[in-house]
Amino acid sequence: MERNIPFSSEHEMFRDAVRDFIANEIVPHYEQWEEDHIIPREIYKKMGDYGFLCPWVAEEYGGAGGDLLFDMILIEEMGRRSVIPMFFHLHSTVCVPYIDTFGNEEQKKRWLPGAVSGESILAIAMTEPGAGSDVAGMRTKAVKDGGHYVLNGAKTFISNGTLSDLVVVAAKTDPAAGAKGVSLFVVERGTPGFERGKPIKKIGYHVQDTAELFFEDCRVPVENLLGKENAGFVYLMKKLQQERLACMQMSLVQAERAMELTIDYVKERLIFNKPLSHYQNTQFVLAECASEVQIARTFTDALIVNHLNGKDILQEVSMGKYWVCEMAHRVASRCMQLFGGYGYCTEYEISRIFVDSRLHTIFAGTSEVMKLLVSRGLGLA
Ligand SMILES: Cc1cc2nc3c(=O)[nH]c(=O)nc-3n(C[C@H](O)[C@H](O)[C@H](O)COP(=O)(O)OP(=O)(O)OC[C@H]3O[C@@H](n4cnc5c(N)ncnc54)[C@H](O)[C@@H]3O)c2cc1C
Repeated sequence: MERNIPFSSEHEMFRDAVRDFIANEIVPHYEQWEEDHIIPREIYKKMGDYGFLCPWVAEEYGGAGGDLLFDMILIEEMGRRSVIPMFFHLHSTVCVPYIDTFGNEEQKKRWLPGAVSGESILAIAMTEPGAGSDVAGMRTKAVKDGGHYVLNGAKTFISNGTLSDLVVVAAKTDPAAGAKGVSLFVVERGTPGFERGKPIKKIGYHVQDTAELFFEDCRVPVENLLGKENAGFVYLMKKLQQERLACMQMSLVQAERAMELTIDYVKERLIFNKPLSHYQNTQFVLAECASEVQIARTFTDALIVNHLNGKDILQEVSMGKYWVCEMAHRVASRCMQLFGGYGYCTEYEISRIFVDSRLHTIFAGTSEVMKLLVSRGLGLA
């Protein structure tokens, strides 16, 4: 089915270049990086050299002045080779927009060029050991002291936790005010009092360095406050629409890849002297999966276009983040079943899709939190 997204010739050229880059610079090293549980930071620099990072940033700050579709294409191409956990879009689509939208002129000049060139890698730190879904329950504090804010607290599950040079940290500047007392700070690598824990061991997303971050009397200059004091929670909520849309896109391309691999496999695999694809169970399973994936693609593309046009689609994105991410893992699981024992072996790409897709119903807001938001939109809570 033809897609209803206005991809231009520039987008298609970008897609070709990204596809080649992934094939030549990522796929050959991917297994090694999975074993290392981290990627070399040089890969960010190379991505920057090719203009693949934040291509939507304005030219005056080093970007190409493009749109979000470039980021969506990057995710699609990463999914096509099952290397989604490289997680470049966390940097490009999730973290850098905080600086672009809420940063002042001086901050944009200072931080955006490095983010575009890949010299600075970004992370975002909201989650704490005692506050995940309940973001407003965070306990990390930032107390103003002259020209600095003094941060104390701990964050956990931070993607790019080890590699990051700039971390957008959410902290309470007015603890008594709950969600209305949260501010965002850019904490730079090497700031005294900012330490990182060991990488957290995970069942998937192996190339991604996920770590705890610790702030102990960490003095952050007032110039590193993003936007207004105590407006941080509103900023987070505003940006979550884009983060969750990207998450839908990641899950969906995983499901599309799972289908592609499985359709090829069942045609080749002979069981009782006939191809696995000739069994009605195989046909029905794949017909059901294909229907779900196609319907999800139509819905996701529509949301991408609406988001590009600046529409408020929080309700639809919450529905999509919940349903598409759950669907993608279900499809990965059903496809894996059709591979028999081979599907359980790491040598087979389908096994990687199965474990990596599992994460997406958890981060960027769990499925349950998405349902809460949807039910609020229905006027139920
Ligand atoms: C690999 C990985 C990478 C991550 N990267 C980042 C990152 O870069 N930055 C960052 O800030 N965070 C990151 N996270 C954190 C992630 O966003 C949280 O794990 C997620 O929001 C859930 O929080 P939690 O783990 O504390 O679970 P909890 O909030 O403890 O939830 C436990 C269970 O309770 C359910 N639940 C919660 N509230 C309700 C409710 N009201 N009603 C019913 N059920 C409910 C949840 O859905 C879940 O099933 C990452 C997590 C992982 C695993």
